[in-house]
Amino acid sequence: MSKTKSDNTDRDLYSGLIRLHVLHHAAEEPIFGLGMIEELARHGYRISPGSLYPILHGLEKKGYLRSRAERNGRSQRKVYRATPRGLKALEAAKSKVRELFRELIEGK
Ligand SMILES: [Zn+2]
Repeated sequence: MSKTKSDNTDRDLYSGLIRLHVLHHAAEEPIFGLGMIEELARHGYRISPGSLYPILHGLEKKGYLRSRAERNGRSQRKVYRATPRGLKALEAAKSKVRELFRELIEGK
């Protein structure tokens, strides 16, 4: 178990980071809910489908992600990709994260 595993009570604090993380991966490749849950777990975020799906829907509603149905054997799953608007928002967020990183981690 990773030391950085977050407690549920801290989720509000991390919700923006989770959204940015999702957006980052959706900018690189098509993502789907369960794959993203595993990816976030790898980074120490425990998030249930009941919490992730509303985040995906919210990002789609805002126009940052676009979904389509993809066949996966006999079932279908929804895959998401970042839209041009999502890419632009991600770029803007990156400079904010960089800024925060400088102060938070590097103490500048
Ligand atoms: Zn990642």
